[in-house]
Amino acid sequence: MTQWVYSFGAGRNEGRADMRNLLGGKGANLAEMASIGLPVPPGFTITTEVCTHYYANGEQYPGELQAQVRAALARVEDAVGLKFGDTDKPLLVSVRSGARVSMPGMMDTVLNLGLNDATVEGLARASGDERFAWDSYRRFIQMFGGVVLGVDHHRFEEIIEGVKLDRGVVEDTALTAADWKTVITGYKEAVQEATGKPFPQEPEAQLWAAIGAVFGSWMNQRAITYRRLHDIPAEWGTAVNVQAMVFGNMGEDCATGVCFTRDPSTGEDIFYGEYLVNAQGEDVVAGIRTPQPMSKLRAKPGERPMEDVMPAAYAELVRVRETLEKHYKDMQDIEFTVQQNKLYMLQTRNGKRTAAASLKIAVDMCREGLIDQSEAIKRVAPGSLDQLLHPTLDPKAPRKVLSKGLPASPGAACGVVVFSADEAELRAREGESVILVRVETSPEDIHGMHAARGILTTRGGMTSHAAVVARGMGRPCVAGAGGITVDYTAQALSAGGHIIRAGETITLDGATGEIFIGSVAMIEPQLSGDFAALMEWADKVRRMKVRANAETPLDAETARKFGAEGIGLCRTEHMFFDPERIGAVRQMIMAEHETGRRTALAKLLPFQRQDFHDLFRIMAGLPVTIRLLDPPLHEFLPHSDAEIAEVANSLGVDVALMQRRAADLSEANPMLGHRGCRLGISYPEIYEMQARAIFEAAVQVAKETGAAPVPEIMIPLVMTKRELDITRAQVDRMAAEVFAESGTTIEYLVGTMIELPRAALTANQIAESADFFSFGTNDLTQTVFGLSRDDAGKFLPSYVEKNILPKDPFVSLDVEGVGALVEIAAQKGRGVKPGLKLGICGEHGGDPASIQFCETVGLEYVSCSPYRVPVARLAAAQAALHAGGVDRTA
Ligand code: PEP
Ligand code: MG
Repeated sequence: MTQWVYSFGAGRNEGRADMRNLLGGKGANLAEMASIGLPVPPGFTITTEVCTHYYANGEQYPGELQAQVRAALARVEDAVGLKFGDTDKPLLVSVRSGARVSMPGMMDTVLNLGLNDATVEGLARASGDERFAWDSYRRFIQMFGGVVLGVDHHRFEEIIEGVKLDRGVVEDTALTAADWKTVITGYKEAVQEATGKPFPQEPEAQLWAAIGAVFGSWMNQRAITYRRLHDIPAEWGTAVNVQAMVFGNMGEDCATGVCFTRDPSTGEDIFYGEYLVNAQGEDVVAGIRTPQPMSKLRAKPGERPMEDVMPAAYAELVRVRETLEKHYKDMQDIEFTVQQNKLYMLQTRNGKRTAAASLKIAVDMCREGLIDQSEAIKRVAPGSLDQLLHPTLDPKAPRKVLSKGLPASPGAACGVVVFSADEAELRAREGESVILVRVETSPEDIHGMHAARGILTTRGGMTSHAAVVARGMGRPCVAGAGGITVDYTAQALSAGGHIIRAGETITLDGATGEIFIGSVAMIEPQLSGDFAALMEWADKVRRMKVRANAETPLDAETARKFGAEGIGLCRTEHMFFDPERIGAVRQMIMAEHETGRRTALAKLLPFQRQDFHDLFRIMAGLPVTIRLLDPPLHEFLPHSDAEIAEVANSLGVDVALMQRRAADLSEANPMLGHRGCRLGISYPEIYEMQARAIFEAAVQVAKETGAAPVPEIMIPLVMTKRELDITRAQVDRMAAEVFAESGTTIEYLVGTMIELPRAALTANQIAESADFFSFGTNDLTQTVFGLSRDDAGKFLPSYVEKNILPKDPFVSLDVEGVGALVEIAAQKGRGVKPGLKLGICGEHGGDPASIQFCETVGLEYVSCSPYRVPVARLAAAQAALHAGGVDRTA
């Protein structure tokens, strides 16, 4: 017989944490907590298989379910000494959903189930508190009415407001038992009106209705949308948890709270969260009363931390916290209730956290001996390091404060104000930095929150949707800025006499909660402390080297600061755009004959030499790969009439002639046109000048420092061995000339980019003439897919949305297609030259998933933009661990 129901805490614990597929995250962890001796109110979990069965069988439960639920309920009754539906000592239960992964959009919670007109009297007698009993009953009708019966929650609120008005009171707490009875009469009428039936009095009927509502909510529209967005299969199903009620609202010795075992914003080893005395779970999130901090260390003047108010329960919670962290070896997000000074645990799960917290917690836990270095490396998502490498506000920069809210997610962000998620997405797609401003956010806003640089809400606390989601996404967020009024219709916000309209700029500081008018200067992040420690551990583990794509001295310096071990791609054309040089470049392009080109190139030579000299000095002996001119020449063409006239003037030719030349050079498909080594073959003098500049600079550095750099000269867009032979010969000739002139000989390598399918497929031939390959996966992706790099942005996002492509292949390497070619080229190349050096310098070199692929192909290094270097270092370490590499951290 299939076991459909698993008990916990009720004399037996049938589940475990690793049974989350069957029991859902909540159920599995309740069982785990109970089995390690933590105080969990007894209950049972109806498995996700019941959900699957329910939907596979025309919404019918398995035949044995009812009996199994009855038996499990009886065990709960025995454990607590109460009876479900008993008019003297009634057992009340909570009913909660719980999928494998926590999923907004589904039915959440019904508390106090089992109450009716008779059992409420029993509860009043048993608790000795009539007011509590009737308050519990009205809460039950309200929750059950809302989530199970679908009665509009405003109806219930109107009724309470009406009674409060009648009694002349403001706070719910001022209502008496008699008042609650009046409220309940109103509630029951509202239910009758809305559903055409009286409020169900039979506890067992209540229970099955609530269970049915949980399973029903698995297929509601919001849950379906959420699953689609997060790739959660419908077959997973949800579990249902039924658990004996404990009460945080029975008096001043009762409380309820939600907290993290460490600070989820900073990672500090401090109890973080909120609790409320004399309250039930939903009161903490509802925001009617202000929750209080847990720890004294976090209390502001006037606040009443739990540590002071309930020292015994707090001390027990501190012990539980230690047990949980030791057991789960990770920071936990917990829910608890204190009933008459006795602590009960209602939930635990690994807590969501910011990148900063993730790093600190991983490093701290390793130092505390909870996890080892390899585990610490695996704990931090490489992509999340991006957030830590981004600037914060410069403390010295002038600023004008607009208002202040809660520091919900750290980091600073500056952008134009938008008031809807759709608008945020639209403007971000056009390249604008936007700040999404909402009264509060909901799951429907996720796409806009993702597109925004920062998020500002005027309502909600540190555990509000905006705060939690922004922290998870790594977006700076200021929440609950009550001093700001948002007017969606007018598309404006106002605070302290200022009005900011949509499209105007503001700056947020997610670390302090401040909001500033206009933009505020930012500063570079610190790369020491925990960050440096984790990087050091990662460096011990990884096999692949990490280089940077850099050409300016500033980029090269940044790259080194971030730990780059060389330059994997210096795009020399980037050195041509400088105002001092572009004139000579244009002269070179527009010259009709070799002599004219050579004159122009002679002007460029000293600039190039200086550039390479600086790069070699900064990189101090680390490898530097310099790619000869690559882009289609049209990128340098003069565009305006004035520019054309200027070039004509400097060349001493006619403007009309220049215009004709510009027209001659224009190409229908420049990315597939006269570019890459094709230019070097048409105009050998260009590559000759560049090679000469490289060798002269290298010789000069050798003389200055006594250590000769080993330049790696790279030929772009090679499709045949013959092309490489021709261009390589040019380079070798220049080397010989410079060495003869200077009397100094240095070592150098000549290699090629593999960025065309033909090059990959004939890599065995090309390898004969190459000292190294560097995979140019930007062009390789373009040519394998036949997708223009420059135009695909217009329609590719819709391909990803429609799931035609799993990811943008220009961001994350297409392993099946492009990856297959990389593998073929690597194999063929090494087949000819076993020691052939292999690297990657396309954008994918900074993408964690692509780096994982590079490890499997056995590349020597990845090269990425300077800011991505730490991301790549960590990703390369994870890839090495994943590949089962030797753990060198021990
Ligand atoms: C590439 O094509 O992957 C590459 C690195 O070169 P570029 O982006 O300059 O074309
Ligand atoms: Mg390229």
